[in-house]
Amino acid sequence: MTTTAFITHRDCWLHDMGSMHPECPDRLSAINDRLIAAGLDMYISFYDAPVAEREQITRVHPAEYLESLLGNVPEHGIRHLDPDTAMSPGTMKAALRSAGAGVYATDLVMKGEIENAFCAVRPPGHHAERAKAMGFCFMNNVAIAARHALEAHGLERVAIVDFDVHHGNGTEDIFRDDPRVMMAGIFQHPFYPYSGADNPPAHMCNVPLPAGTRGDAFRQVFTDIVVPALRSHNPQMIFISAGFDAHYEDDMGSLGLLEADYMWATKQIKDVAEDCGHKRIVSILEGGYSLSSLARSVVAHIKTLADL
Ligand SMILES: [Zn+2]
Repeated sequence: MTTTAFITHRDCWLHDMGSMHPECPDRLSAINDRLIAAGLDMYISFYDAPVAEREQITRVHPAEYLESLLGNVPEHGIRHLDPDTAMSPGTMKAALRSAGAGVYATDLVMKGEIENAFCAVRPPGHHAERAKAMGFCFMNNVAIAARHALEAHGLERVAIVDFDVHHGNGTEDIFRDDPRVMMAGIFQHPFYPYSGADNPPAHMCNVPLPAGTRGDAFRQVFTDIVVPALRSHNPQMIFISAGFDAHYEDDMGSLGLLEADYMWATKQIKDVAEDCGHKRIVSILEGGYSLSSLARSVVAHIKTLADL
């Protein structure tokens, strides 16, 4: 049995916000190339993401919001929903596969076919609120997967760890009133989307970091705050909003993480899952815009997930 699934779909390349936009299809190509160059493709199982079903999406987003997204897809060119976030003709094809990947990963892990999964998908999701697209995000992939674990598989407690350089305001909005879902976010602050540093509910743990924070300080607060918060929730499954834009080489943010820090954080999350009596982890790509550091960090993350 392979430990780790790699889930993606060609449709995730179809969403295109223009040649100057950092959230571009080349991100996924860079990950694929690096994965093969590293020889990792021999040791993980590849799956095509299905399209997320309407009832899976509407556990998180109102039906009217989904309809408005589908209705806003342009026939050609691009249509802006906000200054950062635009739709192209293929956007919803990509978005439905991205959401479907997390749901499918959850099913595979719950069935025990694999221990953990990484979803190499775009558009990302953690800025998408219940009824608002923003920050390159349309539907909240990790939230749809987490609700699927609760509603379709009957889990009672799950956790979401978000180490993207940006605060996952969408995920916080969605689970604000759902204490079954513990959210632990570690992000640059003050920084887009300028949320997360004001008193969150008790089941949410926000760790704002000042610009310039490097790996040693990141590991310290992860050890002191994130890991104990996760352990106290005793999650039956752990989701990761895996953004790699806190990397030193990524100009999108101003933190200084390296591949070794992502490996370390991934190992901490694995240890928590094991201590909670299972190994269930579903990791979903969020940000990461420097193509080289993104691809290297994803490979480091997957190597750790797969015990390689
Ligand atoms: Zn980000």
